[in-house]
Amino acid sequence: MSLQRTAAIVLPLIIAFLFSPAAHAADPKPIPDKLIVLTFDDANASDYHTVALILKQHGFNATFYVTSGWVGSEKRLTWDDVRKLHELGFEIGNHSVTHPNFLDRSEDQFRAEVTGFDQACIQHGILKATSFGYPGSHFDRRMVRVLNELGYTTARRGSDPEAQWSDDGGIGIAYEPGLDDPFLVPGAFTRGSGFADSQGLLDAINMANNGKISVLIYHGVPDLFPHCSTSVERFKADMQMLKDQGCTVISMRDLSSYVDLTKRPRDIYAPIINRLGGFAVNPETNAKRNPSFSWTFASRKTNHSQVAYQILVASSKQKLERDEGDLWDTGKVNSVESKNIAYRGKRLEKNNDYWWKVRLWNQPDQKELDRVSKWIAAELISTMRKSLPGPYSQPVKLELN
Ligand SMILES: [Zn+2]
Repeated sequence: MSLQRTAAIVLPLIIAFLFSPAAHAADPKPIPDKLIVLTFDDANASDYHTVALILKQHGFNATFYVTSGWVGSEKRLTWDDVRKLHELGFEIGNHSVTHPNFLDRSEDQFRAEVTGFDQACIQHGILKATSFGYPGSHFDRRMVRVLNELGYTTARRGSDPEAQWSDDGGIGIAYEPGLDDPFLVPGAFTRGSGFADSQGLLDAINMANNGKISVLIYHGVPDLFPHCSTSVERFKADMQMLKDQGCTVISMRDLSSYVDLTKRPRDIYAPIINRLGGFAVNPETNAKRNPSFSWTFASRKTNHSQVAYQILVASSKQKLERDEGDLWDTGKVNSVESKNIAYRGKRLEKNNDYWWKVRLWNQPDQKELDRVSKWIAAELISTMRKSLPGPYSQPVKLELN
């Protein structure tokens, strides 16, 4: 084989390796504050005819989650439009063939809809998708497993069960890379008739800090359906706000530059369950030789209250960060008390520094369960029926006086 021929074969391989997501993942860039992922669902004609131009004017990237079975119908994209979006550098994401509630379908049916979309893209000269948008935000373990098997790297949901997500929009939660599973990336804000002012978007922008990323969900500009529609004026104002706020606006695919997408939680639901628990705010110590501890219960859910707590006191911050309470570990104490809990651990010396933190368990919220049980996976609902622990509070220094 000639040197030229070898080079002709090997060079593209090296280039393909250098630009593959895996190569990025090895050394992700630091995540800037106000990093925003922009997504558009349901293959509306406006994706190409209105949105694309506005995004290009601002230098923004985006993911268009296309439902392939809807392409070519009235007020939807044509395959020509989809290909042009792809050629403009935007990402085409998989939003299934027929947009069903997959909780009611078999694993084989889910697989068939994912690969059916992939085949339609290949037929029309469009790159195979690597991101999936759950239709109606219905997800479960089977779907996550199948997407992983089929070479997908990310998937986007709404924000339930942690934050109420509805058809007419809403404020969700920021994506926490390294914590959230890349196949369960939550939405931070959905534009819809219920959220037509600028506040929700501003909240979502401000949530994107300290390594967190906000994913925005839009539908048509305007949409076929009024509840999830965004007017052209509103959309232009939104994009201007992202610009004025100094946001970096990317597609789901671009996440691979910032996030090691191969890093996954030990359980895909663990981060979700962790957010469903109650948590402590304003942890305070009465710093005497025999201190006492207080906090306030907080929750994202209005009907929650504290039913148990666990306090850890440690001789170093490092021990506490490993959840080691070498001086005092109360274990789970079933109690609604949150004021002046007296210390009952090992003897404390006046000149030493100590550290403490607390976590809280909430009661299951029946109203919330009733609301979500029709469209959240049964396996997640059964967990939500239990009293759940929230995350530990930040370690607080205990200086005795
Ligand atoms: Zn949809």
